[in-house]
Amino acid sequence: MDVGFTAEQREFREEVRTWLAENRPKQTRPMEGLETRDYDLAWQRTQFEAGWAGVSWPKEFGGRGATLIEQLIWYEEYGRADLPSVDSCFVGLNHAGPTLMARASEEQKAFHLPKILAGDVIWCQGFSEPGAGSDLAALSARGEIDGDEIVVTGQKIWTSFANTADWQELLVRTAPGSSRHQGISWVICDMKSPGIEIRPIKTMDGGAEFCEVFYDEVRIPLANVVGEVDKGWDVAMSTLSFERGTAFTAGQVRLAHVVERLVDAARTVVGPDGKRPAIKDDEISRRLALARAEVASMRAMTYANICRTLRTGSPGPEGSIVKLYYSELQQEVARLAMDILGLDGLKFVSRWLPNSWSGYFLFAFSQSIGGGTSEIQRNIIGDRVLGLPR
Ligand SMILES: Cc1cc2nc3c(=O)[nH]c(=O)nc-3n(C[C@H](O)[C@H](O)[C@H](O)COP(=O)(O)OP(=O)(O)OC[C@H]3O[C@@H](n4cnc5c(N)ncnc54)[C@H](O)[C@@H]3O)c2cc1C
Repeated sequence: MDVGFTAEQREFREEVRTWLAENRPKQTRPMEGLETRDYDLAWQRTQFEAGWAGVSWPKEFGGRGATLIEQLIWYEEYGRADLPSVDSCFVGLNHAGPTLMARASEEQKAFHLPKILAGDVIWCQGFSEPGAGSDLAALSARGEIDGDEIVVTGQKIWTSFANTADWQELLVRTAPGSSRHQGISWVICDMKSPGIEIRPIKTMDGGAEFCEVFYDEVRIPLANVVGEVDKGWDVAMSTLSFERGTAFTAGQVRLAHVVERLVDAARTVVGPDGKRPAIKDDEISRRLALARAEVASMRAMTYANICRTLRTGSPGPEGSIVKLYYSELQQEVARLAMDILGLDGLKFVSRWLPNSWSGYFLFAFSQSIGGGTSEIQRNIIGDRVLGLPR
């Protein structure tokens, strides 16, 4: 078996590396607020104009239509170059966009997909509610049908980027008296609609893109329903399978570079004996070696998962295996970083690497909750991958 890259793929890697080096954003990403929107959209626009936007999106929807190997090369080079993650463009590019491609009408696709790709708009996700997180089917935001509009009243919570978003993938209960999976609709909501109030929540890593969103008789055209009215649960499952299946690929590939950065740090900081570099300590070098091995196995799982998705056309429940492994490994690496860096690790410069390991450590806590908690991923793996009895 030849596991190397072809000459064409090596050439492609060179092209990506050169382009990223020459076009990377000059400024560091701001911490929060409208400036993050401008920054993320400008970077997305730069990629779009050069034909690099949506590497995983099919050509028919304006994407690059890159092969599997090319996508991986792109993510690897992106991680190696330490570029900002897609952040506020994450929902649009990684799960709202793919859901629209799979489930929306031709008009909806034609209107929304080019704007997402070109860096014109930001999307957010209005699924979770105070009483419906892991148990999403308990959602109660009401959508009353009035002529050719849906009138939405209720509350969503933990909506990342609601404060800077233009559009939202919103789940509402449109069938009066319905419960659980029935009677829900997946709706495209204009975040500038009258009746929407957004309250940012400050998180412990200094961010404020996490929001509560209140809807007071917000009028949304019925034409904004994706799929059929009252049949949105099925559409929502597509969204979640993209979110858990392939949305974190870039982050998974990037984790390898985070571990290498930590190995470098361990060569320079003083270890537990107060004399030698941390990497000379047996326990620290064992944990670093383990982290390297775990990153390699996660990468293999990521590759297998992308191959499976390409074969079947959409991500299956196996994505939960990678999501679970990735979020827990990220936390393990963050803990190891704090153990290696000691007091130096407490310096808080920003939320992001390469400047701040403490920011990375604090952010890592959220990773086993967002996109479905680790317990929920274990339930999905037991139930839908392994077929264990409930
Ligand atoms: C970084 C981040 C970004 C997010 N962004 C968004 C967003 O943009 N839009 C959005 O809609 N939501 C978003 N969320 C919300 C996220 O989807 C929910 O937090 C998550 O689904 C868990 O729901 P919950 O917080 O209500 O916790 P709960 O569901 O109340 O869970 C509490 C605890 O109980 C456990 N638990 C619950 N049910 C079970 C079960 N059946 N079996 C075993 N254990 C169980 C959970 O694992 C957890 O430990 C985000 C969350 C984070 C952390």
